Amino acid sequence: MQCNPIKNRWKNYGISLLAILCCLGLLALYAKRRNPAEAEAHHFAGQTMGTFYTIQVAGTLPEPEQALQEEISALLEQANAEISTYRSDSILSRFNQYRGNGPQPISHGMADIIIMALRVGNATHGAMNITVGPLVNVWGFGPDKHTPETVPDQDQIDRARQKVGLEHLKLTSDIRGDFLEKDLPDLYIDLSCMGEGYGVELLSRLLDRKGINNYLISVGNAVFARGVNTTGQAWRIGIREPTDKVLEARDEVRLQGYDISTSGSYLNYFEKDGKRYSHIIDPATGRPIDHRLVSASVIAPTPLEANAWDISMMVLGTEKAIKLATEQGLAVCLISKTDTGFTTYMSPQFKKFLVHDK
Ligand code: FAD
Repeated sequence: MQCNPIKNRWKNYGISLLAILCCLGLLALYAKRRNPAEAEAHHFAGQTMGTFYTIQVAGTLPEPEQALQEEISALLEQANAEISTYRSDSILSRFNQYRGNGPQPISHGMADIIIMALRVGNATHGAMNITVGPLVNVWGFGPDKHTPETVPDQDQIDRARQKVGLEHLKLTSDIRGDFLEKDLPDLYIDLSCMGEGYGVELLSRLLDRKGINNYLISVGNAVFARGVNTTGQAWRIGIREPTDKVLEARDEVRLQGYDISTSGSYLNYFEKDGKRYSHIIDPATGRPIDHRLVSASVIAPTPLEANAWDISMMVLGTEKAIKLATEQGLAVCLISKTDTGFTTYMSPQFKKFLVHDK
């Protein structure tokens, strides 16, 4: 099943993406005035995974744009066929539907995601938890969206919590390939928090294989840059406040060979009786997070890594997230609500990416 979320999510993702694109556009315009001899620019864009993707390439392509566009679309289609819980016939959905405990074959790409998710899941003591699916679904944020939105009762939450636990999942690899096992028939894996990063990673590997060295890729809120833009400068990405009405970035980072990924409680939520319920679930309580951290951006060498840590920060909340980022030496930017507005924490590793010549 392929739901059509674009309508509902357009506002949040659209604004977020537009902010990035607007910022990049302005920078390109500014740079063009200064340097008329800029490199060729190629743009690719579309919809995938219930969100949008864009790719900008600076320089000459090794093949016609149309041919590359087809390969891009095919790769994103492959990602959906592997890990979408919004398609009942994806490899992941078939694993979720399987009620036995034998090893089930999965793709190598899925194994990479799960290895990263388990590593970060263990480091956060299960706060980042890809078995959280039954809770995501009971709160109406998964493929079975409730209309109108409803708050589940404690009994429903407790029953869903019994189906959650990283210890019930096992990944094995041998000469025949990669396999996933579960010892709980109702275990339901949700890789949505890593999907955008996976898409970016597949696309960047495609461009690397083709010898394309200068590009910027975004899938939803995961953005990876390599090389330089059309004016020979490192790519710059804007970071905005979670409620910015104007499409103006407050801070910018310069990325070369790194990914920045953002998770936020303001990106997907519903409101009921004056209370806001976010799509990010704390597995410890079985409920949407309820603290002052509203946005976490993480910069890491790979999109999967950035994607795994950003949601971890969001589940933990500001204080625990700062502690974890310090222990792990992570480049993080955390935006928290205050009584009067927002306050921002940037780790020393994150500050190294900041652009100072704005
Ligand atoms: P992130 O903050 O990165 O992740 C939040 C998501 O992670 C939650 O929505 C939940 O699913 C999960 N999560 C919640 N709590 C935790 C936790 N404690 N630990 C780990 N994970 C948690 N949506 C549609 O509406 N229609 C579609 O057709 C569709 N297709 C998709 C196909 C694919 C392959 C993928 C990966 C996702 C798809 N989505 C679809 C889902 C949608 O785009 C997701 O909301 C998105 O991937 C989550 O990214 P995010 O940046 O919003 O949130």
